[in-house]
Amino acid sequence: MRSLIDILDLSVQDIDELIALATDIIENPGKYSDKCRGKKLATVFYEPSTRTRMSFEAAMYELGGNVLGFSEASSSSASKGESVADTARMLECYVDIIAMRHPKEGAPLVASNNVNIPVINAGDGGHNHPTQTLADLFTISREKGRLNNLTVGFCGDLKYGRTVHSLIAALSRYTGIKIVLISPQELRIPSYVEYDILKKYNMDYVETESLEDSIGDLDILYMTRIQRERFSDFDEYERLKDSYILTPEKMEKAKSDMCVLHPLPRVNEISTKIDKDPRACYFKQALNAKYIRMALILKLLEGAYENNRTEKCAELVVNELKCTNPRCITTTEQELDHIFKGTDVENGIYRCIYCEKKKTRIK
Ligand code: ASP
Repeated sequence: MRSLIDILDLSVQDIDELIALATDIIENPGKYSDKCRGKKLATVFYEPSTRTRMSFEAAMYELGGNVLGFSEASSSSASKGESVADTARMLECYVDIIAMRHPKEGAPLVASNNVNIPVINAGDGGHNHPTQTLADLFTISREKGRLNNLTVGFCGDLKYGRTVHSLIAALSRYTGIKIVLISPQELRIPSYVEYDILKKYNMDYVETESLEDSIGDLDILYMTRIQRERFSDFDEYERLKDSYILTPEKMEKAKSDMCVLHPLPRVNEISTKIDKDPRACYFKQALNAKYIRMALILKLLEGAYENNRTEKCAELVVNELKCTNPRCITTTEQELDHIFKGTDVENGIYRCIYCEKKKTRIK
């Protein structure tokens, strides 16, 4: 697998190398302006995006390459019923690398399993968003000078916020990390993040509903929007949508060097009055995203990460268990095998390789 599907596909060393490369690109842009001459990137976005798609496109152009693709499912053959696997096979005839965003969890993995070119997960449903995590890590490392010994608060929609899931997974690799999870009960992190990441890696974490009470402890505050499009109950969204709003008054309680991140788009969870506060780093984060994506495209086209995929180490069970998550790609992709990986085989705990929904296997 020469793709980036999950942030844990990359080791800490891989991430350090990407950060070093992105830094060199910022310092010496001329060195890279021809590196992808003759190469093509497909941006295939079945869900809305501004930053991710355009920063991928800007990244490829700045490397001297070309871009083609679509920005909504209705303008692709998906609207005629084409499967993700077939679309990916067809794209392989035209391009060298694919960046895919899809509302179904696991869709980029399906694409990657069907082609021999790199596929980048540019966001799959409420599941993962590894390249946003690279932008987050790059920004933290530039702003704080380190990725260890940090207290990181995640605030807002921790249930559906895919960027939160991927960043928590990435932080499990670093030392001295304290995680503060700030959300309403209804929007707590999903169980796979809690059990397969936070508990499995013995991470130091607390859960709270109060931003005011915890803001003073944080080095990083990662704000998120409430993900309206993932709610099946619109009344619930209406009730929760204004759960947290970061205001200048709340910022007064924060450390003078706390860094505010947000994957964007912002709805109303950060007052625009904070934009001029030197601690507001979300627009820098959007710029950093372009450089780290340039670094990633270069590495993937070089054939890096060939043997990195974690599934290889796990016990796999094929078509014995069925995934019942309505947001999983197994619900729409024709003839896709239901594959589960053993995450705690002794206790019969398996997870769908596409969406990580848990199943218990009784032997
Ligand atoms: N842009 C981020 C994402 O695609 C965050 C968001 O949409 O709220 O997940």
